[in-house]
Amino acid sequence: MAKILYGKSVAENLEGKIIEKVRKYIEKGITPTLCVVRVGNNPEAEAYANSIEKIFKKFGIKINNINLDENISIDNFINEINLLGINKDIHGILLLRPLSQNLEKLKAFQYIPPSKDVEGITYENLGKLMAGEDTFFPCTPQAVIELLDFYNIPIEGKNVVVVGRSISVGRPLSLLLLQRNATVTICHSKTIDLKFYTKMADILMVAVGKPGIITDDMVKENGIVIDIGTNVLDGKLVGDVDFESVKNKVEAITPVPGGVGVITTRILALNLLKAIEKNEDRN
Ligand code: NAP
Repeated sequence: MAKILYGKSVAENLEGKIIEKVRKYIEKGITPTLCVVRVGNNPEAEAYANSIEKIFKKFGIKINNINLDENISIDNFINEINLLGINKDIHGILLLRPLSQNLEKLKAFQYIPPSKDVEGITYENLGKLMAGEDTFFPCTPQAVIELLDFYNIPIEGKNVVVVGRSISVGRPLSLLLLQRNATVTICHSKTIDLKFYTKMADILMVAVGKPGIITDDMVKENGIVIDIGTNVLDGKLVGDVDFESVKNKVEAITPVPGGVGVITTRILALNLLKAIEKNEDRN
């Protein structure tokens, strides 16, 4: 039976670092502050904003919640984001989905100043990731790397297969793995014979959004499986991997829930603190 790679231990380890850093900033008179921007009244976005606020409060991080009208004009939206950009008391901006159609079309995320882009989603920060420079990295991919490091799972030289190539998960994750000298293969919906690739993976990472897409016949014996997927199936949260069968074949596997997901908000907090640090370096 595989070792279960729980995210909680990783999250707790990061929390210690976060609380210590926040304490030092508060001593210096800086209250780390994240601005969470929502557009319209989406209950899921509201629940997510509330859960971030609750977690960040524990760390001593302040949250400014802004709820913009769902019919906000493009000019007013850009103006609001620009004001947050120049506000010295705000260190990071988190723009939640869903956005209105015209804001999606506008690629509204690109109006976040890169220095406050704590999710690492602006083209500037994604470009730096591509170039191998230090910057804000998207939270979920970074959470995966933290998890591997915490459990002392070597990355260098490993044959890593990433299933999923989204701009927020699969692609940046592949680049982070490449930076850590893994040999990376990226699979997606047009991959022919997915099993051929997944079976070869020393470390298999799955970010698709389809429950049970990975079964025990698709994994390498004694491999490592990182399940990033989150799906609601029959009212229960499940991953992309058929956990019950796969856990009997591999060396280690993340559970869902309780795996990568719990680490991501801690990465968001660390990125916020990094934004303050980078700002101090500039001054
Ligand atoms: P996404 O934007 O929908 O991307 C899904 C990816 O899966 C796409 O690249 C798609 O390929 C690929 N795919 C779809 N069907 C496939 C198939 N049959 N075989 C191989 N690849 C296939 O989703 P996402 O935002 O990356 O999220 C992926 C999953 O991770 C979701 O379950 C999401 O809820 C979860 N997630 C979890 C966290 C966390 O904190 N744990 C954070 C973010 C996301 P194409 O590019 O060819 O369409």
